[in-house]
Amino acid sequence: MAWWSTSEGRAQELARRDRPLSERFDKFVVRQEGCWGWTGCHNGIGYGYLRINKKTRLATHVSLELAGRPQPSPSHMACHTCDNPICTNPEHLWWGTQAENMQDAKTKGRTRNGQSATVSRDADHALAFLREAGAPFIDRPGL
Ligand SMILES: [Zn+2]
Repeated sequence: MAWWSTSEGRAQELARRDRPLSERFDKFVVRQEGCWGWTGCHNGIGYGYLRINKKTRLATHVSLELAGRPQPSPSHMACHTCDNPICTNPEHLWWGTQAENMQDAKTKGRTRNGQSATVSRDADHALAFLREAGAPFIDRPGL
């Protein structure tokens, strides 16, 4: 049995391989009580991005990956339980399909009297935070 096929060896291997990614992530994430902030690139509607190995990746995806929860499939998106687009706290994130995300939005819309108002208010907060942090804007599609 190869050394890395034991769970401990595997974890060490992953930690070693992921170090540059976690270092990049740590540079821009603002860990704090509740929602985490982001000071890296953003797309103008509050979503954070990270450039890694010449690829631009969503900060939320990287956060979940670093927390040991990699994307189940390319069609899964990182959904926020807190509806705060800038938030990269893996405790506030879950992988959902588009259908699950829509269902989640619908459920929240019922309980909070209108999901769209909530989202736009939180996006405004996220953008204010990003502006204050001097985070660079990059032109990327919404998700
Ligand atoms: Zn949050």
